[in-house]
Amino acid sequence: MMYASHPLGPDPTSATSAPTPSTLGETSPGAVRLRVAPSPTGDPHVGTAYMAMFDLAFARQQGGKFVLRIEDTDRARFNETSEQQLYDTLGWLGLRWDEGPDVGGPYAPYRQSERLETYRPYVDKLIEDGHAYYCWCSQERLAQLRADRAAAKSPQTGYDRMCLGMTKEERAKLPGFTENPVVRMRVPDDVELGFDDLIRGHVNAPRPDDQVILKADGFPTYHMAVVVDDHLMGIDTVVRGEEWISSTPKHVLLYQWLGLTPPKFAHMPLLRNTNKSKISKRKNPEARLTWFQEQGYLPEAV
Ligand code: GLU
Repeated sequence: MMYASHPLGPDPTSATSAPTPSTLGETSPGAVRLRVAPSPTGDPHVGTAYMAMFDLAFARQQGGKFVLRIEDTDRARFNETSEQQLYDTLGWLGLRWDEGPDVGGPYAPYRQSERLETYRPYVDKLIEDGHAYYCWCSQERLAQLRADRAAAKSPQTGYDRMCLGMTKEERAKLPGFTENPVVRMRVPDDVELGFDDLIRGHVNAPRPDDQVILKADGFPTYHMAVVVDDHLMGIDTVVRGEEWISSTPKHVLLYQWLGLTPPKFAHMPLLRNTNKSKISKRKNPEARLTWFQEQGYLPEAV
């Protein structure tokens, strides 16, 4: 596949559809670092390419770097072919990253499943400082809690903090106990729900639950991993879809507790159907990037 002169590709003479490291020089001091961080859970979504386009355009305009990170901590939804499809489809569109699992870079590894030992000390610090706690509630107990609340039409959602302040021995004497705990954030009552968004100005989000940050299988959840990695990889501007606005107060809390400077956030409007509904892979074939390839679209047209 030849690219004529793709507006976003740094090297129009490159005649390969595989992503190549940027031909731009080293990042100048203070230059921006952006990332796209897809989860390999199925066919790549058109929204991933859409966000990558803004990241890349801004990085190129500012002489910064564009990073691809694979967020594969959700083992239940992990799909083996998805990562290669991401490389193929984003590469086909000429969206080339400077650092990533396939091209390497100074902050490797760029695949979260290869960084598990990186996250643990951050989780331990949060526990030591009283910002996080172990929870031994079984899935059955949590399901029962949800069912009871639904039956009682209770407005309460989220975890009821049964395990907060307990030792394993104390908790083990009570029903609904499981040997392998998760770790949860202890969200304070006075949590700051507003944050400044580069596009929207001051934004308010709903109050977060005592979110799980480390799962029983030892993998961090998205919230923990995204904060640690954006920090360690020097990401200073996070551009992502507006569906993540409700997660941002959790991330801001984690940055604050860990004594880290949060990045700037820009939450983009989502791509939508003409009736304004969200494009979903289940209902809309054009949500899948591979659909455009199957239909014979040229990358420039997409
Ligand atoms: N892994 C998340 C996703 O699948 C990334 C969200 C973000 O950009 O923070 O979209």
